[in-house]
This record gives sequence, structure tokens and C-alpha cells, in this order.
Amino acid sequence: MIPRQPAGDLRAGDAARRVRLQGWVGRRRDLGELIFLTVRDRSGIVQVLFDRSRCPSEAVDAAGQARAEDVVEIEGEVVLRAEAQRHKDQPTGDVEVVASRLTFLARSDTPPFLVEDRTNATEELRLQYRYLDLRRPAMQKNLRLRDEIAFRIRQTLHQRGFLEIETPMLTRSTPEGARDFLVPSRVHPGQWYALPQSPQLFKQILMISGMEKYFQIARCFRDEDLRADRQYEFTQIDLEMSFPEEDDVFDTVEAFLAAGFSAAGIETVRPFPRLTFEDAMSRYGTDRPDLRFDLPLTDLSGESAGSGFPPFERALAAGGTVRGLRVPGGAAFSRKRLDELAALAGEHGAAGLVWIKKTAGEVTSPAKKSLTEAALSRLLEKAGVEDGDLLLLVADREKAALASLAALRNAVAREAGLVDERKYAFCWVTEFPLLDQDESTGAWFPMNHPFTSPREEDLPMLESDPGRVRARAYDVVVNGWELGSGSIRIHRADVQERVFRRLGISEAEGKERFGFLLDALRYGAPPHGGIALGLDRICAIAAGATSLREVIAFPKTTSGLDLMTRAPARVPREQLAELGFEPPPGSESA
Ligand code: ASP
Repeated sequence: MIPRQPAGDLRAGDAARRVRLQGWVGRRRDLGELIFLTVRDRSGIVQVLFDRSRCPSEAVDAAGQARAEDVVEIEGEVVLRAEAQRHKDQPTGDVEVVASRLTFLARSDTPPFLVEDRTNATEELRLQYRYLDLRRPAMQKNLRLRDEIAFRIRQTLHQRGFLEIETPMLTRSTPEGARDFLVPSRVHPGQWYALPQSPQLFKQILMISGMEKYFQIARCFRDEDLRADRQYEFTQIDLEMSFPEEDDVFDTVEAFLAAGFSAAGIETVRPFPRLTFEDAMSRYGTDRPDLRFDLPLTDLSGESAGSGFPPFERALAAGGTVRGLRVPGGAAFSRKRLDELAALAGEHGAAGLVWIKKTAGEVTSPAKKSLTEAALSRLLEKAGVEDGDLLLLVADREKAALASLAALRNAVAREAGLVDERKYAFCWVTEFPLLDQDESTGAWFPMNHPFTSPREEDLPMLESDPGRVRARAYDVVVNGWELGSGSIRIHRADVQERVFRRLGISEAEGKERFGFLLDALRYGAPPHGGIALGLDRICAIAAGATSLREVIAFPKTTSGLDLMTRAPARVPREQLAELGFEPPPGSESA
């Protein structure tokens, strides 16, 4: 038997070859004497011709029976198409296969949607029939790209001496700030495993175990609200190094990101620029700035003092701030657009949005009546407003002012023509605060997780001024997406205990939850640090996909359902009993 020929690889140079294809039937065009089928496999699609004047009649009859998604085996001869019938936009468009035989390997029911890139199937239908959806060339391309990215990342890390080491799935809770997925123990009734939110503590223990360089393409589980771009289970490129400086982690990550993104033909400019958390917040209002464009915010608190405009005066008197965003050319924005921007600012916590336009030397603004002449010109000058520009202002608590202007900055950049869609602007954000404060309870909680090292020189402020302690923590960001975060860790038991105390974790609780780590830290822990990056996000960006679900073979919906397997599901009564559970009241099947 001649070997199987990948359908998508056929080219003009294959003319006159006899081939054997195995794949799925795509489209069929039946002209009576002539039947055209497209045959698709992972390599692509080719047209097959059944011609009564040239092909055995059994083959033509069989082709007449073929339906979309039947699995067929076809033998035939590759022929060049007439010049006028060549499809230059298709890789196999110069040729077709004139068939001598068609055998059905499996028949298909009528599929609920056409297996083609252009589909009007809803996402629910696509997820329910994921096996059909994954046959679509675009999905095949995404999963191939994902494989190539993961492979190049692995290769880069392996070459740099990182060992890929698996860590347990059934483990104890790790505090990454989300809810755990719990698994009951059958053998130890009343006791629970947690699925890992990340391999954080294991990778630290691996450093204490002398492994020096660890990585893992690791599955992680977090039971948190699934916004459009989250999944309960996701994949991290997780790594940890012993004796590192921040630069060592940065260099490693930049190397594997360059290798990974190159799989999609995306070039990375190294080294990535770095900015501190403080600079990122004051300049862009966010710790994940989109640096494809600059468009900085301006602190206008000084210029707003004594401005006579009540919202400004009130915000400043309450210890807040006035920040502005100059939108080049924004004076052309309509009232409707300005209302939309005000609504967007509101969604991000701002009590209001003030705008000032300058056109042909004329200044217009709803605030013009209350603002003193002097304040108005101070504001415009400090913000660098030129003719044709718009100035957006938010007077509020600092958090709300920055968050809302950061959202406005992203929203207006595209309209202002400032976003180069072909650009990938990577950066590092460094020197995050160690702790954040809950505004209602006043409690301190870790910005990252409780194993992040404070900067040595800030340690004395841990008790006296915790909000000012900076961490040796960093994030890697591209085009406004946080790709990953990490830190140099605490490697001394006494410092770890101090941080626990600051977080309100008592000695007893620390022992109970993290005793194994505290013990390990007492047996000679090397300085260590690492990072974890979201592989799903990296693949989505590289594929130009709008959702993570486009680069995950079997994702869940935003309400956490697997529509194909119908998980979550009830389980038989006996299975529950074995685990020591009663069936929930009112459930018959369980
Ligand atoms: N474990 C952290 C996370 O999952 C990453 C790290 O600090 O390495 O976000």
C-alpha cells in the first residue's frame, strides 16, 4: 500500500503522483457527472475530483454518498488544475486529486455546524461539540502554535540548566489569594486535600533541596470569579532559582519569552524596559501599563488647590488628588463620547469626570464657570494642552483617580490613533509594595503572597510604617496584560515569622499552615526567587486570539461549566457515602 499522504502538503510538484489520503469530508459539490469533495486532515485541505469519464463508477457512486465529516480513504492521482482554476490563496490550490477509489472509514451524523473557520455557531455550541470545533483549521493552528511555544520555552529553560520537576496536585492550601478547590480524603474522613493554586511552596522547598534551577509547565487551580479572561484551571510557566538577583530572573524570562513568541513570528526587543511600581502608577495609573503608546497622566493637585471648583476642593480637602489625562486631538470628541467616558470612569470608581476642550484658542468646559481664570490656565499649562486637545480630569481618592484614568487612557489611545497593533511592548514593573491595606478593616494583606521578600533597607518599617515597605517583587507586562509575577523570596525563618505576624498570622496558625516551610527554612535555605507566567495568556496574545478559550483545548465557560462532558455533575450515592457524605437534600440521582 502506498503511504498515507497529508492532504494539505500537495503542491504542483506532486503532479502525476499516485496518492492515498485519509481524512474528513468537507464540502461536496455534486454536478451529476462530476463530484467535487474537499478532504481535510491536520495538514490542510485538498480538492478531490470524481469524474464519470475518468474514474471507476464505484468511486463516483461512493462519492455521491459522502457527507460532511465522514472519514474517508481516497486513492487517486494528483493533477495540475487548469491555469484559470487555480486558487492562489490556498496552499494546495494548484492541484486536485482525481480519485480512483473512495472507502468510508467512518460515517458522520449531520454536524450541528460546518467545520470551517467562518462559523456562525455560538460559543456554547462550539464548546458542546468541541471535537468538531477543534477540527476547524483556525483551532488546529492555535493548538499547534501552543505546542510550539511550550516546546521552545521548555527547550530554552532546559538549555539554561533548569530541571523540569513535577509537584503534587493533591496537596495543602497555598495562599495565592483565591479560594481553594478541595478534595475529600476517603482514607482520612474529615480531612481534605487542596488542589494547588500554584506550586509556590514546593518550588521554594526544591531550592532548599539543592535543585538550584527548577521549572514546570504547571496546572494551577483557583476557585475565583471567572471574568471573561480567567479559567478555574490554567497553566503556568513556573520557575525558581537559587542565589539569584532580579537580573537573573529577568534574563531567563526574557530569553524564553523571546523564544516562545518567535514561534508566532513576533520579535521581542531586549532587554525589556523597567519601571518601578511607583512610576508606573503615577505615570499611567496602573501597574500593567500598555507601553505601545506613552500618553502619561499628570498630577494636577497643586494646580487645583484654590481653583474655586468645588469637586476639586472637596477631593483635596479629603486627602485625595486631582489627576489629568491629555488626549491629543480629543477636542473633536462628541458629547455622547464624553458621556461614555464618564460612565467608564464611574465603573472604575471615580465619582465624576471633568473635561476641558481647547479649540481654536477657545476653552470650553462644564467646569469653566466655577474655575478661576488663573487655575484654568495653570491646569492647561501643566498638562501640556494644545489646540485641538481634550483634558480629562478626575478628583478623587488616589486609587479611584488612577484606576479610572488608566481605563480612560486605554480607551482613548486607539481613537487617538496611538496604538500600533503590530507592536509588542514588554516591560518589567518592579519594587511593588510588600503589603496592601483593606480600606474597610485596615488589615494588611500581601500584594503578592506572604513569602515575598521585603527590601532589606525597608525591613525596619515593617512594624512602624508597613505601607511603605517595598518588596523585591516584579511583574512582566506586555501591551497592558500582566503576563506573570514573581519575587525574590524570604529565605530566613525569623523574617518569615515577622512577616506572618504583620499579616496577623499567629505563631500557632503559621505553624499549622506553613510549619513545613518554616522548618525547612531552619536547615540552610539558599537565597532564592522566581516567577510564574500564564501560558494560556501568552498563547492567546501570540495567536491574536480574543479569548483564552481559543487556545485551550477543553476550556470552561465563564460560569465554570464544561459543556462537553457536562461537568460539574452529581455523583452516585455510593461514591458520596464512601467519602462520608450524605447526598444533598432533594437530589434523587445522588
Ligand atoms: N506563585 C506565584 C503566582 O502563582 C508566582 C511566583 O511568585 O512565583 O502568582
